[in-house]
Amino acid sequence: MVLLTEREWKFITNKWGKGGHQECCKALNFDEPFKDSNYFSSEIHEGILKWISSEKGLDYVREGGSFVVRNLGMLAWLVRFASVRTVLERFPANYSEVYSFGRVEVDNSLDDKLIFKLFDVNRIEETCMAWKGVGEGALLMTKTKGTVEEIACCRLGNDCCEYHVQIE
Ligand SMILES: [Zn+2]
Repeated sequence: MVLLTEREWKFITNKWGKGGHQECCKALNFDEPFKDSNYFSSEIHEGILKWISSEKGLDYVREGGSFVVRNLGMLAWLVRFASVRTVLERFPANYSEVYSFGRVEVDNSLDDKLIFKLFDVNRIEETCMAWKGVGEGALLMTKTKGTVEEIACCRLGNDCCEYHVQIE
């Protein structure tokens, strides 16, 4: 299960209005409007990302990941004053609050590069891309210049999806 909050829907309504939100619900056979802070099956979560990807383009999935992490309310306000390293250190704990499956490992030991690994998290291209967006959002939020690349992927037979955050 995945904890989905208002922020996910806010990205869709900000981008494509209430109509976009309704379209997405309809595509997922979702009768009720999305309510704030509920646990949903990972299929629903993946369905939302797939809808964004197929209707609007994969790049919006990435933008959505970045948007969500930058709109965490109080947390976003706090992390503006934190370094991207601090954000990364908290990532495994934060992850477990939102996801009931999979796990995260981080490597903070390198000077110019931060590494995070997602085990048993991504099953589709869209979630891999959304996590890249999350990494980029963390850079933006902490006003850190850098880039994020997924250098290994479980969908390609690796044991995890490994992301390198190169700090400039
Ligand atoms: Zn991947």
